[in-house]
Amino acid sequence: MPRLDISTTSEAERRCEVFVVGCGPAGSTIGALLAQQGRDVAVVDRVRHPRFHIGESLLPLNTPILQQLGVWDELKEIGMRKDAAEFESHAHNKTVRFEFSTAFDKRWPHAFQVRRSEFDHMLLRNCASKGARVFEGVRVVSVEFGDLARNQDTVVNLRLEGGATQVWRTRFLVDASGRDTFLAERMGIKRKNRNHATAAIFGHFRDARRNTGSAEGNITIAWFAHGWFWFIPLKDGTTSVGAVCRPAYMKSRATDPTSFFMQTIALCPEIAARLTDAELSEPATATGNYSYQSGRMAGEGYLMVGDAWAFVDPVFSSGVYLAMNSATLGADVVDAVLKDPAQAPQLYREFDRTVRRGVRTFSWLIYRMPSPIIRRLFLAPRNVFGVQSAVVSLLAGDVFRWGPVRPRLYLFRVIYYLNALGALPTAFRAWHNRRRDIKVSIEQT
Ligand SMILES: Cc1cc2nc3c(=O)[nH]c(=O)nc-3n(C[C@H](O)[C@H](O)[C@H](O)COP(=O)(O)OP(=O)(O)OC[C@H]3O[C@@H](n4cnc5c(N)ncnc54)[C@H](O)[C@@H]3O)c2cc1C
Repeated sequence: MPRLDISTTSEAERRCEVFVVGCGPAGSTIGALLAQQGRDVAVVDRVRHPRFHIGESLLPLNTPILQQLGVWDELKEIGMRKDAAEFESHAHNKTVRFEFSTAFDKRWPHAFQVRRSEFDHMLLRNCASKGARVFEGVRVVSVEFGDLARNQDTVVNLRLEGGATQVWRTRFLVDASGRDTFLAERMGIKRKNRNHATAAIFGHFRDARRNTGSAEGNITIAWFAHGWFWFIPLKDGTTSVGAVCRPAYMKSRATDPTSFFMQTIALCPEIAARLTDAELSEPATATGNYSYQSGRMAGEGYLMVGDAWAFVDPVFSSGVYLAMNSATLGADVVDAVLKDPAQAPQLYREFDRTVRRGVRTFSWLIYRMPSPIIRRLFLAPRNVFGVQSAVVSLLAGDVFRWGPVRPRLYLFRVIYYLNALGALPTAFRAWHNRRRDIKVSIEQT
């Protein structure tokens, strides 16, 4: 793909119908879909791709979106096939495997795990091939909104590599800036999640001991005393390993990230055993508490998609799917608003409701994952009234439609609360510890 050089654009070329901030999965998806619909789209990223990004495990429900974008065959070339999610607990001496083929929707029985540098670059190239103008090494620094209904342009101020500045004009702005949360920060509407707080430390290993046969690509989630680990096998033989922990544990770090990561691995016997002969490819990376949500995701002439609006937690590998799903829904909203700005309030409301519903469905379980009650239920699954299939469907990303999944997820909640009642002191301790962790985390930042 020939790279476009923004510095050589003429003043007349510095306008578009839709301007997209960020070229991660959300930005490339909405950019490609709007360009495909014939819209004049410009997409910029502050860095050049391929670039490192964490978040390597995709969900089965990503499949229809990737097929719609026309990148499914290419994805199969770069991805490691994942048929199941496995949950391990040393304390219970138990591992359970949830095969995606047992979900209610049989059309998407597997997913892939990817190096995000390759995946995001593939999506960026696809976006450009659909006709969007893609510029890398360009940071959006500020924006002044015009009144869309009165045909006023929005002004977008850019800083290019080397420090030069540029002004663009657009009818609509899409914020797909990920955890930079470009608009939410400037609008002062970004809030720490008051129900959840975790932080992560991670790295890539060579020669980790993986499952064999068709189970090689399964993701493993292993609980340990301070949180849980992910173990994500990638196609080139590298394995991504990360620990998601309570922020208080991360704060206790008295050494460099790599030494702390290796000490943390030693606390989880399953992961330590798989890494006995493995070697870390580069120093470990640590992130702080990343759980947040912004007050709104749409308004006069703008939409936020993906992490630009909210991020909860990586435990169910839902981030990329939710980002691409909101971008897919968002493409239709932007197109319709440009056709008829008077429809905007109604379209924004529906978009908001749908996107929130998906995030909320994941969140209920995410908030309770550290609880011993959930651990017990996960490690002794029973498909009473299809509840286990519903949980597998959630793990596959089937969280937006009503039936047959959501009613059974409500039943799962009832089972959880009944179990919590039966083990009240344990459940209360877990709830109390979670509240304390969140309070400490919010006070510390
Ligand atoms: C520890 C951890 C583990 C995770 N594991 C998983 C996983 O296994 N599976 C999964 O699905 N998700 C995972 N996630 C979440 C996943 O990484 C994100 O949800 C996903 O990348 C969101 O995509 P996005 O397009 O919204 O944002 P991003 O992928 O972050 O893309 C945003 C882009 O915007 C650009 N940008 C930002 N600001 C500007 C600006 N001002 N001007 C121009 N460009 C800008 C950035 O350079 C970036 O390229 C994980 C997250 C964390 C923190």
